[in-house]
Amino acid sequence: MVEFLDLKSINKLDREAMIEACTRVIDSGWYISGKELASFEREFAEFCGTQFCIGVANGLDALILTLQAWKQLGLLVEGDEVIVPANTYIASILAISQNQLVPVLVEPNEGSFNLCPIAAEAAITDRTRVILAVHLYGQLADMPALSSLAKRKNLLLLEDSAQSHGAAIDGRRAGNWGDASGFSFYPGKNLGALGDGGAITTNDAKLAETLRALRNYGSHEKYKNLFKGVNSRLDELQAAVLSVKLKSLDEQTQRRREIAQQYLQGIDNPLIKLPVVDAGSVLDFHQHAWHLFVIRSEHREALQKHLSDNGVQTLIHYPIPPHKQQAYAEWNTLSFPLTERLHEEVLSLPMGPTLSGEEAEQVVAACNSFSVASVK
Ligand SMILES: *Cc1c(COP(=O)(O)O)cnc(C)c1O
Repeated sequence: MVEFLDLKSINKLDREAMIEACTRVIDSGWYISGKELASFEREFAEFCGTQFCIGVANGLDALILTLQAWKQLGLLVEGDEVIVPANTYIASILAISQNQLVPVLVEPNEGSFNLCPIAAEAAITDRTRVILAVHLYGQLADMPALSSLAKRKNLLLLEDSAQSHGAAIDGRRAGNWGDASGFSFYPGKNLGALGDGGAITTNDAKLAETLRALRNYGSHEKYKNLFKGVNSRLDELQAAVLSVKLKSLDEQTQRRREIAQQYLQGIDNPLIKLPVVDAGSVLDFHQHAWHLFVIRSEHREALQKHLSDNGVQTLIHYPIPPHKQQAYAEWNTLSFPLTERLHEEVLSLPMGPTLSGEEAEQVVAACNSFSVASVK
């Protein structure tokens, strides 16, 4: 069986160095907000090309706290609108609702699966304050267009970079395009901890300072509380593990690109739509982090069964769009035809830095042997 994502073998790559790092933390007697966190924050900021990185407990908190910090700084008030792609993972939207802000769902661009700048502009009202650009599946949204739109309309630009560590446009990486960016280090993400973790990157010193307080009960200084904050910290063990894994991230992303290349060159089946990549444009293959390799098929259910019968494990990201979720019952009657079609057709093939060339070949062969006869 070709596993969808073999986390055990991925973490084996850095096993010795991670054990050494964990031993160092265990023996240090210091487990929260210490040297390991400070080092990782410095390293990850440098990786993204930003001035600041603030570690938090998970990716959802990274987004929630950034919006909360902007409220605290007087840049947002309850009821303000945030533009967000309708086909995102629900966490992006939860971060908006949890701050009593109003999510405004916008259809994506069909080729890139990412927020369409034209649709985003059309959705702007006099209550719009933020554009939340999600870099879905490891590919940056059209950040040149979205940055200039945000600037022109005087809006804040927040990136959801949970799936796109190291992805770039013209060499400028995820995390360094918006006013702030939220990252997740959930184990299955391209940079994954051995548990939960997240971070915000930004070049805004004031925002960074506010976030450092918010994640720690709203306190900058022990027993002095500026804000009604939360406890959302990235602990020393996870920070130490992430520092180790960050060193191999570029190499692992490169390996993901090789697998993607093998799929793009090998899969040739009229029943399967490959992801659109176009070197030199915004959809630049070499700058895609390939968190997921997502194909489309009008016969998705039959294709998934065929692949499974041929020893290939696949997953669906995501089966139900946020506006059709019970959690957002008030949106259930809304219609986003493209988003709904994508949710019916998308299928994620095995992808990861430890996938072998032979395994990728097996995936290609299984995709190519899918036929109309196997439908029904
Ligand atoms: C994973 C993910 C999140 C949430 O990250 P957690 O660390 O799981 O809280 C947010 N947005 C997107 C797009 C994600 O893929």
